[in-house]
Amino acid sequence: MMIYLDHAATTPIADEVLDAMLPYLREQHGNPSSIHRAGRAARDGVERAREQVAAALGVHPLDVLFTSGGTEADNQAVKGIAWAARAAGRGRHLVTTAIEHHAVLDAVRWLADAQGFEVTVVGVDAAGVVDPDRLLAAVRDDTVLVSVMAANNELGTVQPLDVIGPALAERGVALHSDAVQAFGRTSLEPAAWAIAALSLSAHKFNGPKGVGVLMLRRDVAATPVLHGGGQERGVRSGTYNAAGIVGCGVAAELTATTAADEIARLRDLRDRLIAGLCAVDGVTLNGSSTARLPHNANVAVTGCDGESLMLAMDAAGVCVSTGSACQSGAAEQSHVLAAIGAPSDRAHVRLTCGRDTAVDDVDRAAACFAEAVERLRAAGGGFV
Ligand code: PLP
Repeated sequence: MMIYLDHAATTPIADEVLDAMLPYLREQHGNPSSIHRAGRAARDGVERAREQVAAALGVHPLDVLFTSGGTEADNQAVKGIAWAARAAGRGRHLVTTAIEHHAVLDAVRWLADAQGFEVTVVGVDAAGVVDPDRLLAAVRDDTVLVSVMAANNELGTVQPLDVIGPALAERGVALHSDAVQAFGRTSLEPAAWAIAALSLSAHKFNGPKGVGVLMLRRDVAATPVLHGGGQERGVRSGTYNAAGIVGCGVAAELTATTAADEIARLRDLRDRLIAGLCAVDGVTLNGSSTARLPHNANVAVTGCDGESLMLAMDAAGVCVSTGSACQSGAAEQSHVLAAIGAPSDRAHVRLTCGRDTAVDDVDRAAACFAEAVERLRAAGGGFV
């Protein structure tokens, strides 16, 4: 039987979510932009989902836009806000962090390389947390956008947006946050933290793949990336993915209403898992032990190749992920591990729990990990 511990990569769709979606793939097939009854029925589903997402985030439904996922939401936020600010003559300087997902980091780099923007990329400490003072020191008079993820996808480190957001608001600078990994796993208060734009992806919280959310406050100008039919306040054109959006709404509601209990349960599982993994000689935790998502264990392992370890665990039925380099350093280390100065001669494996993970799963995964490490070390580490 498979033990799936890669919920940071994607999560299984919840039964309630699939059940809510099916009618929109069958009888409610209208285009939500059509004004006849078939269209209105589909539109009702989309607008209910918008309200569910808005309630889950504590924002106004009109601030919620649906996208094709986290990547699109990040690109639309970063490029759209930057372009609109430059067009208004407000400046062309952007600030972000070294541990952002490529959907933000590469979008920002492209704006610098191909679009005439200037970018400051702020580093993080050895635990993978950005220092608010260091970030705020990078802000200039011509800074038009700061993008800081709410929680990192590899290390699970939670960033201090509660401090960063209000400080940026005081200086009149828009904050975008990639909350793809954070939603439902740590507190997220877009209104109190003065977040101008925030990205979510439904498949990370037991919703369907191919649908996401860009929370874009109505007072924040953003130039569209996609031009077309003018849906979603004219910011995101394209025929509505009604079934996906309905699923996203139900998943958001389910996640928000169960978050308190689920976070406590996951935290216990995570701590048990980390204790099991770190009981093996030469294994240490990557990232912060406190500012950490409740489902994330990420460890460094001496004397082993990361991909070999991941494949050995896969062969035993346990799905985990790796961000490691091989011993020679020839394979590229992830930019996140590089940013925290993680040694490149170790295996780095990430195990992430979810709604369906039980105590027995983490115990078996830890035992499988210990066995695989021992076997690989005995065979020379599995280095290629
Ligand atoms: N941002 C973060 C932090 C992520 O972890 C991911 C997915 O792994 C994305 C953005 C991209 O989301 P999507 O796969 O929905 O495009």
